[in-house]
Amino acid sequence: MPIATRAFAATASDKPLAPYSFERRDPGPDDVAIAIKFAGVCHSDLHIVKNDLGNTRYPIVPGHEIAGIVTAVGANVTRFKEGDRVGVGCMVDSCRQCAPCKEGEEQYCVPGMTQTYGSPDPKGVEVGQTITQGGYSDAIVVDQNYVLSIPDSLPLDAAAPLLCAGITTYSPLKTWNVGPGSKVAVVGLGGLGHMAVKQAAAMGAEVTVLSTSDRKKADAERMGARHFLINSDKDAMKAAAEKFDLIINTVSATHEIAGHLNLLAKDGTMVMLGLSTEGMPVFAMPLLWRRRRVAGSLIGGIRETQEMLDFCAANNIACDIELIAPDRINEAYERMEKSDVRYRFVLDIEKLAA
Ligand SMILES: [Zn+2]
Ligand SMILES: [Zn+2]
Repeated sequence: MPIATRAFAATASDKPLAPYSFERRDPGPDDVAIAIKFAGVCHSDLHIVKNDLGNTRYPIVPGHEIAGIVTAVGANVTRFKEGDRVGVGCMVDSCRQCAPCKEGEEQYCVPGMTQTYGSPDPKGVEVGQTITQGGYSDAIVVDQNYVLSIPDSLPLDAAAPLLCAGITTYSPLKTWNVGPGSKVAVVGLGGLGHMAVKQAAAMGAEVTVLSTSDRKKADAERMGARHFLINSDKDAMKAAAEKFDLIINTVSATHEIAGHLNLLAKDGTMVMLGLSTEGMPVFAMPLLWRRRRVAGSLIGGIRETQEMLDFCAANNIACDIELIAPDRINEAYERMEKSDVRYRFVLDIEKLAA
């Protein structure tokens, strides 16, 4: 049976999100049906709602930081059963044939992953859905291979944002081999930045936060940062030159990066995680002088996402969240545009109006 689903959707780039109803597909043999309990609010939701990339199809239900409880499983599903605590992140399928898929890096699928919302959805056609719809809703049906298990020790609400923010920071920390003795700088203490600080500190790194003001200094220290730098403080930036092995840059607004490159030690890397739609100046001199690199990184594969959830559970790491009712989503977007959130909004889906 198709599943009647209540949601919040955007119907146009200049309209507020509003209540919306639709049907999820009848779960197939490989599917897991999930009652969504919490959905994190990611900055990319805002980009899609506002059509910043120019390819949004409406109506669209955003949300790719999903935590909930399994309500039913198909005949072939072995890893999950009714009542399990589960999560769904940024993707719900991929081609499963290409090299990245076979290597467990489905986020880099060559034909492209099926994103949790806004991707063509052949499986949804039977219930009139042509694109995938995300987590600002009370139910979702997902192939078991793209469902994550949320460890019992993690609270579901504060675990939801791990499914995008948490894996987006965890993957580069692992890729660049952060461990005891590593010196890691995190630029921007927001939804991504605060996860990077907690995870890098738990991996044994010496963590420094770079921010535009000292408003969040006490928070940074509580999360595990040892040092705090204000990036307009020229003397402090000079003193920090060549200190870091890795810079996790989470700032999505276009900004000058040349000054930050000088903070990297020889062979150091700055990883860009913020989704900026504009170009940024990169100068060759600071790169070649110390064989530095500027890199990017996109979420993580399913296997790595499960590893991240288990790592966070083992180290008592979750997101700092502001839990809100879904009908406050538009106000949350306005506050996010002013970076006024500590540190992630999460929708309490049980408060969806009947
Ligand atoms: Zn996201
Ligand atoms: Zn693939």
